[in-house]
Amino acid sequence: MKKSFAPRHLIPVEQTWDLSPLIDSIETYNAGIAQIEKEALLFNQKYTGNIIDSSSVVQVLTDYEKLNEQFVPFGAYASLSLEVDQTNDEAQMRASKFSSIASKIGSQLSFVHSDLSALSTEILEEAATIAPQFENYIKEIIKKKAHQLHPEVEKTLAALSSSLDAPYELYNTTKLVDMKFENFTANGESFPLNYSLFEGDWELESDVNIRRAAFEAFSNKLREYQHTTAKTYNTHVTTEKTLSDLRGYESVTDYLLFDQEVDRTLYNRQIDLITTELAPHMRRYAKLLQKVHGLEKMTFADLKIPLDPEFEPMITVEESKNYIENALNVMGDDYMEMIEKSYSERWIDFAQNEGKSTGAFCSSPYGFHPYILISWTSRMNEVFVLAHELGHAGHFVNAHKKQSLFNSRPSTYFIEAPSTMNEMLMANYLLKTAEDTRFKRWVTATIISRTYYHNFVTHLLEAAYQRKVYDKVDAGESVNANVLNRLKREVLEDFWGDAVEITEGAELTWMRQPHYYMGLYPYTYSAGLTISTQVSQRILNEGQPAVEDWLKVLQAGGTKTPVELAQMAGVDITTDEPLLNTIAYIGGLIDQLEVLTEELNSVIIDK
Ligand SMILES: [Zn+2]
Repeated sequence: MKKSFAPRHLIPVEQTWDLSPLIDSIETYNAGIAQIEKEALLFNQKYTGNIIDSSSVVQVLTDYEKLNEQFVPFGAYASLSLEVDQTNDEAQMRASKFSSIASKIGSQLSFVHSDLSALSTEILEEAATIAPQFENYIKEIIKKKAHQLHPEVEKTLAALSSSLDAPYELYNTTKLVDMKFENFTANGESFPLNYSLFEGDWELESDVNIRRAAFEAFSNKLREYQHTTAKTYNTHVTTEKTLSDLRGYESVTDYLLFDQEVDRTLYNRQIDLITTELAPHMRRYAKLLQKVHGLEKMTFADLKIPLDPEFEPMITVEESKNYIENALNVMGDDYMEMIEKSYSERWIDFAQNEGKSTGAFCSSPYGFHPYILISWTSRMNEVFVLAHELGHAGHFVNAHKKQSLFNSRPSTYFIEAPSTMNEMLMANYLLKTAEDTRFKRWVTATIISRTYYHNFVTHLLEAAYQRKVYDKVDAGESVNANVLNRLKREVLEDFWGDAVEITEGAELTWMRQPHYYMGLYPYTYSAGLTISTQVSQRILNEGQPAVEDWLKVLQAGGTKTPVELAQMAGVDITTDEPLLNTIAYIGGLIDQLEVLTEELNSVIIDK
């Protein structure tokens, strides 16, 4: 029987992550923050007006990078201690105080970019030759010259950054603190409900009455908050539009893609090809689910059910480690050592508790080990989630080892490639070891229902919806709950056609994802998985040389563009081919599911 979650302070320590490597006590935290504030002021006094030639450029960047590095553990601590319990008053206060200090320091330091931008390209290029470690950073400055505003405006914007970023915090507060779910009733019984329970359990529940009742209760609660959430979101997108106009970008989309080092062709390709080419395969998958579960009609509330729910093994955290080790050992000894430490040194927060952020993520503060947040439900498909997050960890452990802070982070376009790569490695390992037909079908179905559904359907449909929102914003319009509901419904109906009934409440799905507050993030999941699908096929076919290429890509960090990184791993993302191959691969998996299901049915009939 599912229960509501315990408060954080009752969670056994071994299920939690250990934040002490970042900050060992509140005293250290407070003293450290005060020290950084002082140093930022000194830095400001030392360099304001003194960035005049190539050698002073190198000097200021050296000190600036150091100052940024010093700041890292404090930011990580403030945010991670809140992520595990959004209801914790102290953590809330610390996080908001941190964000105002960060704005203040950001404003004091904004002159660095302004003064660098004001220098001639020749001086900047000369500095990059003297100190190649800053080449990428300086290239960025040169690229952004045309969009840099007057120094006083930049200073003001930096001082306001905490307010400009407020919509994301408001969104989280509405969702995780204010929204309280009452129990719902199905089959004459009462069941608890909250965000994590809905997304981690009820959406996957095999009893159709319970599942659909949970969906209805969940949607009804979302609906109560739709106008506040829409207003918050509208504030966010109109702020982005204003900044994009002020900085002289042609459109908000160009503004958001600028930092990703990607042009509109790559962005539009993901959305256009997947919504048209993948849809027929996914409709087939929905029909298969409907048939296997004997559903009279297939609704939006039924899409997340596993194909074979009775089969799904439940596994412990300790068992997950064996699967992870076996699946990822192809990555080599250093990678395996990291996996070992991630468990033994408590890098991972497994607990399910009240107020914890939903979903899973990996945070990789420079100079420290990564931290992974997950709410462990014991379902075996969680090994895919863990493999995914450990993929982010493995990416940044490798990048941080080889690159300086300023060179460590690649474009968002590439961020989900190493993580989804590990999901593919897990899939390949499980398929290889699958002996009986039913397990093989479970693994294949999980690759579809988790890896591809998540990255190529959930996030991609978010991207398709997001593109419609930004088109409106670019046309000078604003959005409210009715508009957002309509746009979201349109996207879902276009994709699922008549294979799936888009249930009342499905249109509110736009309220569920924090990604909308992170620029054009949603489409990058499918972009990353396109690359990793192709590279994981290379690893299957070629073995070691493909692994070596991949490790080099991870170690390159942010020194290359997404197109160059993919090229290093043998994938040309400037063409349709990798994406069409990946869609064909997904279609092939669904073919296999149909065949395996037929086989299983005939076995049952024969008996
Ligand atoms: Zn990820």
